[in-house]
Amino acid sequence: MTAREALRAAGARLADAGVPNAAHDASLLLAHVLHEDALMLRVRGERALTAQEQAAFDALVDRRAAREPLQYIVGETGFMGLTFAVRSGVLIPRPDTEILCEEALRRLAPGMRVLDIGTGSGALAVSIARHAPGCDVTAVDVSETALAVARENAQRNGATVRFEKSDCFQALSGETFDLIVSNPPYIDGEEMAQLMPEVRFEPELALSGGGDGLDFYRRISREAGAHLSEGGALLFEIGWKQKDAVSALLSAHIGAPFAMKDYGGNWRVVGAVKEREHASQA
Ligand code: GLN
Repeated sequence: MTAREALRAAGARLADAGVPNAAHDASLLLAHVLHEDALMLRVRGERALTAQEQAAFDALVDRRAAREPLQYIVGETGFMGLTFAVRSGVLIPRPDTEILCEEALRRLAPGMRVLDIGTGSGALAVSIARHAPGCDVTAVDVSETALAVARENAQRNGATVRFEKSDCFQALSGETFDLIVSNPPYIDGEEMAQLMPEVRFEPELALSGGGDGLDFYRRISREAGAHLSEGGALLFEIGWKQKDAVSALLSAHIGAPFAMKDYGGNWRVVGAVKEREHASQA
């Protein structure tokens, strides 16, 4: 079979399985098998596949037809211009999270101490360490699996990050930071019951924020004051419906809240700078 024929067959198979962007995914999977650029495959569509290549491609198409996320199958994804290893057990970095990263970078200056809570694949911590040189980046996660992937990603991207196994601030007593970022689990109970098939492959630990989705915002907002330096900021990624609820938590525990939208026009980031009068509440 030629590459073009194989792509047509796989595209049809994935479309039948309900995969969004079936043709696109088929070409990325074949490019992965052939170690080629997806665009080159289109240019060289008459290239014949060997039996081994065809078998390897079919196996990946089977996984995608079962709705396993493309990023887990190819084992990596892009974030902030860097490439991150991803596999079962860590959340796949989403493009929307770059909004949070960019806001963090705008606020950083050399010498600042940064903390990423629930780092997962390390996307935020590693991107910050790479793009904000001279900052001292710490990243925590409660999952050993996530920490192993995050360490691998720091090494792969030449970033220096200190990783600690910690349930939120648990292992960080007495430490303070100039910026705390977090993309915590924030999906509520109702939405957890209706996840896309692909998202069901991702760890519930990284997705579920309790009944109303706000468990981690409550906990981190309450505890962050004690770990923020004077004038330090806390930045959260949020679900599109959570701006008001999370802003209220920040306003009660940290300082006057602000918010940013993503490129889709949804509220995606809320944050606050620690105010003096809040210092004693933490
Ligand atoms: N943005 C993710 C999703 O909608 C959720 C990530 C999270 O809970 N932090 O699938």
